[in-house]
Amino acid sequence: MDVFSTKKFLIAAIIISFLSLIADGNTQDLFVVYTGNLNGYLEPCNCQQAYLGGMTRLITAVDSLRREHPDLILLDSGDFFKSYPLPAGNWLMMEMMAYLDYEAIALGEQELVEGSKFLIRALNNFSLPVLNGNLRFNSNDEQQFTASTFIQRGDFQIGIVSLVDSASFKFSAVERLTVIPEQIILSEVLKKIPPTVDLLFLLYHGTFEKAVVLAEKFPEIDVIIAGHAQIMTASNLRDQIVVQNGFDGEYLGILEIDIQDSDYVFTNSALPIDEKFSEHLYFKNRIRQIVSDNNRKY
Ligand SMILES: [Zn+2]
Repeated sequence: MDVFSTKKFLIAAIIISFLSLIADGNTQDLFVVYTGNLNGYLEPCNCQQAYLGGMTRLITAVDSLRREHPDLILLDSGDFFKSYPLPAGNWLMMEMMAYLDYEAIALGEQELVEGSKFLIRALNNFSLPVLNGNLRFNSNDEQQFTASTFIQRGDFQIGIVSLVDSASFKFSAVERLTVIPEQIILSEVLKKIPPTVDLLFLLYHGTFEKAVVLAEKFPEIDVIIAGHAQIMTASNLRDQIVVQNGFDGEYLGILEIDIQDSDYVFTNSALPIDEKFSEHLYFKNRIRQIVSDNNRKY
């Protein structure tokens, strides 16, 4: 190829790239960060050699990711309270979740460990976006939860719905509740999702296996973030993805979604929350204050 032909080839290549950019007008990346089974784990325990996790470090990690990705979508799949009652610690956990500014949080059975009145009082106090579509308190004067929320990122509207698995309540001593089976309620909830929604998330507080079954049964759901089981795993279905984080904030799940017209390319990874993230000083001091007020270690 002579110099003239090379120039023509380069100009043609630039024009083709430009045309493909126009054709891909809907191209956009979404950066989703997810947690689950945080278990009220406020600070690193320093109990192992290579210890991970704890909210004080996790907050620093999210703050740092947000500087890089100001539009990141932060989601949680439930069980952010401890599995046993500890009101001061669980209240502080809510305060930390509020600081993190989640887009949506699933309700897990552990959130009822202090009783529904404590939970509702804390949710109202911190205005936390806790979603649930299938749990009903049997008493009429209890506040019901919102089933779904919608957020906008650029040209894309994202719908988020949340359900809890009735089986997760089996071993928990909670007030009398009714949990509507997921497959029945999901058909109803999905009917109310407006057609303007481009991408649909389900925050499912239940086992990974059941989450995969829901994904297969409801192809309109694009992403399921599961919780309850303390295992980190992910499964790519045909054009959906089901992911699940570990526990105690040991890792942040990161799901990058490359949107090309109506196709989504999912890239899932896990960021270890280790000593490279310093502990958030304000919340470290809040923990010290609670420890001294209550004369106990958390
Ligand atoms: Zn659970």
